[in-house]
Amino acid sequence: MSETSPKLRAELDGIPTYRPGRPAAAGGPAAYKLSSNENPYPPLPGVMETVMAAAGTFNRYPDMACSGLMSELADRFGVPLEHLATGTGSVGVAQQLVQATSGPGDEVIYAWRSFEAYPIITQVSGASSVQVPLTAGEVHDLDAMAEAITDRTRLIFICNPNNPTGTVVRRAELERFLDRVPSDVLVVLDEAYREFIRDADVPDGIEIYRHRPNVAVLRTFSKAYGLAGLRVGFAVAHERVAAALRKTAVPFGVTQLAQDAAVASLRAEDELLGRVGSLVCERARVYESLVKQGWTVPETQANFVWLRLGDRTVDFAAACEAAGVMVRPFAGEGVRITIGEEEANDLLLHTADAFRRQL
Ligand code: PMP
Repeated sequence: MSETSPKLRAELDGIPTYRPGRPAAAGGPAAYKLSSNENPYPPLPGVMETVMAAAGTFNRYPDMACSGLMSELADRFGVPLEHLATGTGSVGVAQQLVQATSGPGDEVIYAWRSFEAYPIITQVSGASSVQVPLTAGEVHDLDAMAEAITDRTRLIFICNPNNPTGTVVRRAELERFLDRVPSDVLVVLDEAYREFIRDADVPDGIEIYRHRPNVAVLRTFSKAYGLAGLRVGFAVAHERVAAALRKTAVPFGVTQLAQDAAVASLRAEDELLGRVGSLVCERARVYESLVKQGWTVPETQANFVWLRLGDRTVDFAAACEAAGVMVRPFAGEGVRITIGEEEANDLLLHTADAFRRQL
């Protein structure tokens, strides 16, 4: 009998692992989780009831076409049904986009640092990542990204606002960049945090997609709508791209619970967006307090802030954990802190102040 183990694809060697934000330890000192950009509010009672009702049929497969959710989305965003595709969270849809466009020999361009799933899903597809460093101000360097395009480029991610820095790309610079991208290269505007934007100069990707056939927009129910645990996201893209996304989707990937919860959340949008408004107020308070304490904080339009702590990153995260808040460290680079409930933000601010004073 042969002693060899199953052959695996060489592309998987050295793939970075996705590191989820650590939860608050049960019984430990950390009571608050500000490490995963989640929505701190519990599910709305009405959405909860919908999910409980859907749970009664989970012996059945879900509606594979997500028809109810798709027609609700088509109405809400004023786009044709054929321009929509759903997936298991927007990370699932992002993976479908890469699978649909890129394979061995192809290149995927994105800013770095940005959303940590981009290198993973690119490498899984067999394509190569082209990472373009953020500017000194922690913003996408769109000129450098345009210059990085080659005849191998298949897809470009623009994460707006960018995870983990919270920084944005504004309308004029984005349009100028898009004018430079060949029409056979797909540009994906990842707008996972769209609902938290208050800067009127940041474009709505769905308005941009309408007049650009090579632009697709990624959105999610995980953040503003508070459905992170249910896994549902979607893309708005022109017909050929959206059809390709349906081909690369895992069949029945979006559960009926998730589909029904997403529809119920769209119908409860006023209340959910009210919660987003409160988080945006908290964001302003956290940002201004950190600046007052003497920190350099890039202006954020998302539900998190970024502190570039360099080699003090891990110490800062440990100090936060000891004080009762989990944050997301990127060792040697910085810490991403989600805006949470008021008490959690207070605790974070208190810890940041004490940490700064002993520097
Ligand atoms: N895009 C960005 C920029 C994100 O930060 C995240 C979540 N961390 C996602 C996509 C994926 O979110 P989900 O799969 O929950 O929709």
